[in-house]
Order: sequence, then C-alpha cells, then structure tokens
Amino acid sequence: MRTVFVNGVYLPEDQAQISIFDRGFLFGDAVYEVTAVMNGKLVDFDAHMDRLARSMAELDMVRGYERSALLTIHKNLIKRNNLQEGLVYLQLTRGAADRDFDFSDLDVAPGLVLFTQAKSLEVNPLAARGQKIVLADDLRWGRSDIKTVQLLYASLMKTRAKRQGADDVWLCRDGKITEGSSNNAYIVTRHNEIITRALSTDILHGITRAAVLKIAELHQLKVIERAFSVDELKDAKEAFSTSASGFVNPVVTVDGADIGDGQPGQIASALRSSYVSASQAAAC
Ligand code: PMP
Repeated sequence: MRTVFVNGVYLPEDQAQISIFDRGFLFGDAVYEVTAVMNGKLVDFDAHMDRLARSMAELDMVRGYERSALLTIHKNLIKRNNLQEGLVYLQLTRGAADRDFDFSDLDVAPGLVLFTQAKSLEVNPLAARGQKIVLADDLRWGRSDIKTVQLLYASLMKTRAKRQGADDVWLCRDGKITEGSSNNAYIVTRHNEIITRALSTDILHGITRAAVLKIAELHQLKVIERAFSVDELKDAKEAFSTSASGFVNPVVTVDGADIGDGQPGQIASALRSSYVSASQAAAC
C-alpha cells in the first residue's frame, strides 16, 4: 500500500481524507502538477514548481508552500514508496470553507495532497507502435494555460476516443489544433520543420514541450511556433505529442487516416530518445 501526503501528514492511502468542504472538491478550485520520476529522481522539478506558482498567481491563490518544503515532500514520498520510475502528483487547493462563490474573505490554510504513481516511462508501447488519435472541438474554458483540476472535458473526450478504438484525442479550435487531452501537439512537415502552437492562453505551457523544443534546436531542426490546421495535420510527414508522463509519443493515424506512412516517425523517435537521456541529466 502506498504512503500519501495529505495536509501535513504522511498516511497509508486508505486512511487519507480530505474535507467535503474543500474548494478543490466543490469548485474545482485547485491547481496541480505531475512530475516524472526516473531512477528515483525528479525530472525538471523547478520548472514544474515555476508553473505551479504561475497557475496560483493567475487564480489569485495567495497562500501556498515553500518550494523547499514541497521538494522535501516529493523526495520523502519517492523514498517511502521506493519509487524508481513513475510520477508524483501534487494538488494544491484554496482550502476548505462553507460553500461560497466569493472567496475574497477566505482565510484558511490551502489544501495540499501529494501521491506517487508507479509507471513505466522509458518503455512505453505507445512509443513503439504510435498513437491513433481522433479530433474533437476544443470546448474547454478559455484559460487552458492554467493547470487547474477542471479536467472533465478532456477526460470525457479521451474516454470517447478510447471507446472508438483510438488512444487519445486532439482538440481543435477554429479548424486548428490546440493540444491533446493531456499533452502538447506537434507536426513535422515534409521539409522536416516541427510546428507546434505558440504559447498563449489556449494551451498548457508544457514542461516537456520546452525541453523537447530545446533538444530539437540542438539537433538543428527548424521549429516554428504557430497553430497548424487539421489539413496540415492530415498532410504531415509525422506527428507527435509530449507530456511529463508520456515523454514524446508518435502519432500514426488521425481519424482513421495514416499520417505519413502510418509508422512512428524518425524525428519523433529521435526526439524521444534524446529526451530520455536529457531528462535523466536534469533530474534531482
Ligand atoms: N497539455 C495539457 C492539457 C496537459 O494536461 C499536459 C500534461 N499535464 C500537457 C499539455 C503537457 O504538459 P507537461 O509536458 O508539463 O506534462
């Protein structure tokens, strides 16, 4: 049984409890981060904590925790659960109080939950066989750059994609791809240019995205940050997604049609293996 962290205490997972008045539960009033663990070490921890601080600031969440305290909790959970490869999930809520839309007078301690999840990251069948994706309208709220726990639309669309026999869904706004259900989206053109949507309020500013774009530049690949259309996707040589839990995963079909030759692309595969090495070097 796992040990988890809830509001200051380490507990066996079946003894962990949160209040029914927690605003994360009642309003989705909470932000989160998922940090990969490789060889027992945290990948890109500081970048995740920078993004957590940004999410909090965008939601006027003023009460949080010191980064050093959060690092200690992450490390303790990795150790106590003997986690070699997987994820640490962190959720910070605005706290528990009587249900009220207005939080201006709220003065309660924020809620903090962390748990580990073992997962094979380096070896992933999706990387070997490539993902089948389907497309859906992006009907999420207009601040997808804030990493809140309001994930229902993405969860619903991913579930429907799975029911149709696909692996994931990519979301579209005005005929252009925004991102995947829980990953950033890329195409590679016939001229070997990597295209991915520019950072804005439309997408999550992926930590893996930043790392992979840096690696692409080191490989002297041209990266263009702009929105790409559904037609461009269908016509692409390669497509792939990035996330902390999936690393780099090639896409081989979209709505049932092959991308390129319908096999994982060379550039996506090269970026994946470079990312695996780089992420281990960046781990703490
Ligand atoms: N977009 C969305 C909507 C996500 O949920 C995620 C994963 N948290 C990402 C992109 C990828 O971000 P990261 O590389 O930081 O995991």
